[in-house]
Amino acid sequence: MRERTKPLEEDGPALQTLIDDMIETMHAADGIGLAAPQVGRTERVFVVDLSELRSDLMEHGEFLPEQPMVFLNPEILAESDEVEEFEEGCLSIPDIREYVNRPGSILVRFRDRNWEQHELRIDGMLARVVQHEYDHLEGVLFVDRISAFRRRLLKRRLREIADGNVDAEYAVASGALNP
Ligand code: ZN
Repeated sequence: MRERTKPLEEDGPALQTLIDDMIETMHAADGIGLAAPQVGRTERVFVVDLSELRSDLMEHGEFLPEQPMVFLNPEILAESDEVEEFEEGCLSIPDIREYVNRPGSILVRFRDRNWEQHELRIDGMLARVVQHEYDHLEGVLFVDRISAFRRRLLKRRLREIADGNVDAEYAVASGALNP
């Protein structure tokens, strides 16, 4: 999960299969985001589905495009100076939730599954999840972004996870994800 990912060079049936498998795996794990390195892949791909939060987000005036969203070769082009604190968890780090500071709004460029390019300014929950998943493509986990003090408290648990002594049920949700 600490490996760097490689940009996608072309679209094709294998990519569509990977995307479908990732969306299925995310749903099976009740996740709101999943990045390729979490399922042992090195493509620069992540998927997001906030549809279950849609009515909450709308109430807070947050913009939400059609879900699920597929991000291929994403780039974060700009981020706000203003930072927000929010509690995060991760499918790959079961049972740990910690507060993480991140820019409240970002400008992201990516291709969708039809290989069309988009530039979106996003904020709120969507910006939060996109930054979390983007980090996965860079080999960064949310626990790398918490204080050294908090990390020390979680040390043993994090080592167990790094050593693979934690069941990550989502990793076997679809056999097709293990080439
Ligand atoms: Zn994660």
